[in-house]
Amino acid sequence: QTVSTPYNRVLLKLSGEVFGGGTVGLDPEVVRQIAAQIAEAVRSGVQVGIVIGGGNFFRGAELQTKGMDRARADYMGMLGTVMNCLALQDFLEKEGVDTRVQTAITMGQVAEPYIPRRAIRHMEKGRVVIFGAGAGMPFFSTDTVSAQRALEIKCDAVLYAKNGVDGIYTADPKLDPAATKLDTLTYDEALTRNLRVVDAAAFSLCMDNKLTMRVFSMDGEGNITRALRGEKIGTLVTA
Ligand code: UDP
Repeated sequence: QTVSTPYNRVLLKLSGEVFGGGTVGLDPEVVRQIAAQIAEAVRSGVQVGIVIGGGNFFRGAELQTKGMDRARADYMGMLGTVMNCLALQDFLEKEGVDTRVQTAITMGQVAEPYIPRRAIRHMEKGRVVIFGAGAGMPFFSTDTVSAQRALEIKCDAVLYAKNGVDGIYTADPKLDPAATKLDTLTYDEALTRNLRVVDAAAFSLCMDNKLTMRVFSMDGEGNITRALRGEKIGTLVTA
């Protein structure tokens, strides 16, 4: 596939689930491979911000079904994302990439606080900024935060790396064998068809602010590097 206009700055969302390699906790080999792909893109000149989920540790909604208070469980979920940030930071630094972690919940010993203008300066200097602890607010998701961070730090696009699905389908391909993959889509269509690969709040935030989104699979060889470099993989969503 052809390379479109290269991005100056992009926000990459990595689902936490993949960091666990299928179980609870961390699979360092998976994180190492992801870091190597990001490093390759950074070396080619693209500025990268990253948001990581926390599904490999805790999801607030899941803990709620087991009897926990939702807000407290959501804070646990946010803390889980920070562990993923530190793991990715470690492997990126091993690849020779300078990084900073900025968290929405202050924890000075492990990360900087989230300061948007400082994040932009870091990226201008070629550092990868990894955003942890989501929005710092319960009842939000890291999908939504990714769109918010992308807007605030002025990214050209927000890229959602998914595992197990290579883009957005007309219906859930796991439930409907007749579902077909879409190369392009508008936010309006995504919302009216209730396509939930990315959550509705993320879709509407991008729609209202005309931010371009790409949803792609991180499973294919080099896919993260390709997406960061602006290759047309997965599904493009526009206003
Ligand atoms: N979370 C939250 N507010 C945020 C971001 C995350 O409360 O701004 C919590 C929420 O409980 C969520 C968990 O952190 O379930 C992990 O994030 P997410 O489910 O988005 O991770 P992913 O599914 O991408 O691994």
